[in-house]
Amino acid sequence: MDESAELKLASSYNHWEPDGTYDAIVIGSGIGGLAAAAMLAREAGQRLLVLERHYTPGGYTHAFRRPGFEWDVGVHYIGEMGDTNSQLRAMFDYLSDGELQWTSMGDVYDRLVFPQLTFDYITGRDRLEQNLVEQFPRQRDKIAAYLQAVEDCVKSSENFFVEKSLPAPLAWLSGWLLRRKFLQWAGKTTREVLNDLEIDGDLASVLAGQWITYGLPPGQSSFGIHAIVTRHYHNGGYYPVGGASQFAATIIPSIQRTGGEVIVRAPVKHILVENGRAVGVAMEDGREIRAPRVISNAGAHNTYCRLLPNDAQVRPLRERLNKLAPSLPFLNLYVGLDATDQQLDLPKNNIWVYPGPDHDTNLANFLADPQAPLPLVYISFPSGKEPTFSERFPNHATMQAICPAPYDWFKSWEHLPWKKRGEEYEQLKGQFADRIQKTIEEQVPQVKGHIQHAELSTPLTNRHFANYALGEPYGLAHTPQRFLERKLLRPASPIRGLYLTGQDVSTISIVASMVGGVSCASVILGRNLFAKFND
Ligand SMILES: Cc1cc2nc3c(=O)[nH]c(=O)nc-3n(C[C@H](O)[C@H](O)[C@H](O)COP(=O)(O)OP(=O)(O)OC[C@H]3O[C@@H](n4cnc5c(N)ncnc54)[C@H](O)[C@@H]3O)c2cc1C
Repeated sequence: MDESAELKLASSYNHWEPDGTYDAIVIGSGIGGLAAAAMLAREAGQRLLVLERHYTPGGYTHAFRRPGFEWDVGVHYIGEMGDTNSQLRAMFDYLSDGELQWTSMGDVYDRLVFPQLTFDYITGRDRLEQNLVEQFPRQRDKIAAYLQAVEDCVKSSENFFVEKSLPAPLAWLSGWLLRRKFLQWAGKTTREVLNDLEIDGDLASVLAGQWITYGLPPGQSSFGIHAIVTRHYHNGGYYPVGGASQFAATIIPSIQRTGGEVIVRAPVKHILVENGRAVGVAMEDGREIRAPRVISNAGAHNTYCRLLPNDAQVRPLRERLNKLAPSLPFLNLYVGLDATDQQLDLPKNNIWVYPGPDHDTNLANFLADPQAPLPLVYISFPSGKEPTFSERFPNHATMQAICPAPYDWFKSWEHLPWKKRGEEYEQLKGQFADRIQKTIEEQVPQVKGHIQHAELSTPLTNRHFANYALGEPYGLAHTPQRFLERKLLRPASPIRGLYLTGQDVSTISIVASMVGGVSCASVILGRNLFAKFND
């Protein structure tokens, strides 16, 4: 899709006037917001108004450019897109009218590099098991037991998520039963389940190695999210052809076909609540826009703690939500290279680099002392995965590297605008950028001398562009406690007329956030829309 076509997908709020009435207003155009809007448009002919505060639609699926380069933000790899008959692939095919195309990352999707060993995550569950057994031959039974635990946990999660879409009386009657099995897994940390299976040492390091994909090391993450995310990749990693911006580019036309609109640079200030019911939104410039329903894709924290009025109805909800921690923020180094992937022989797979075998210790050391070794550097190769990149950006390639970092280290600059945070902030960024770049050059030495652009984002960047107050990349942290919260993290909020969609009503990941949107539309229409996509 060329840039002029991309611009037609969304109008700018500054030049826009509401035209007629809308069936619902969606706050935020992340994949969860777009999926909910597109489902309501396609299934019920509804007219949606999607209001996005950023200058471009897509939330974390948007892409940004610098001269000669383009990077995605929150799309490195997606699982389960290789099987055209799978339910998740069918959902994307439906929402995008078959326009969203996928390309495989190939045999290896993740390479884990520890000081003492290297391990490749290989496409195919059986091949992964074989590879694990080859590396840890004396732990064959434990590996089988672990993979079975992952399967069992993921299987039990189906009912847990179904319960979120049920009408209130049904959920009240059957909710406990539907949630119980998954909570037996999700109520434990990843470390606790590994301990139950008597898995420790290098095998534990490898099995919990992909922890940044769900945001917490094994001692803190729920085994529920560990199983869901790692299992998601068992059949390999996929990437959207044309880059991350193709999510919005291919889904928005479904919203527009029934008269809906996606408006960018449109920050919502408040949700209007009258007589206990959401009736519309107030924009930052004071304009009010009304609709019978409001769907928030802005995350649970923004919705309950910033967008709703601080009244007697909402206050207890805030107190309840504030018991759940935000996810751990990242630093992200966006690297532009003056040669192609082929010239530099860059891989498609991600490379994960750790300073030691124990992920919790690596992170705790770094959080206690920023000079301690970086607890994890996750390197990815967006241009290498994207077959049209070389036509769009000839003679160039891109890389990204992520490393966790707490919000507090950057908090003192939070009141200052983007790009104007001063010398001290730039120096701090420069120090981290240099350390991350050093890790990149150690792992991928052929890029030395080819780095033309390197730009670090911090938790403040995330706060500025994605509106997560503490720069939290994945919304609420995926702790066991998160999965025990039933009332607030579901599409139907306790406020009549207000619905939630996206990662906080499901879990982190593009597919889960999209599922959150389908779930939200199911609740609004009172129909199980998932049945449409049954395998
Ligand atoms: C660095 C990073 C890497 C990731 N890598 C992967 C990956 O490889 N694979 C994968 O599956 N997932 C990945 N994820 C996770 C995935 O991107 C997210 O889970 C998913 O995109 C979240 O979608 P969402 O719809 O819930 O919300 P978001 O994408 O966060 O969208 C919310 C939207 O709401 C808008 N908004 C907020 N407040 C307002 C307001 N007041 N008014 C108007 N608009 C507002 C925001 O601007 C934003 O556009 C990654 C995430 C990050 C941060």
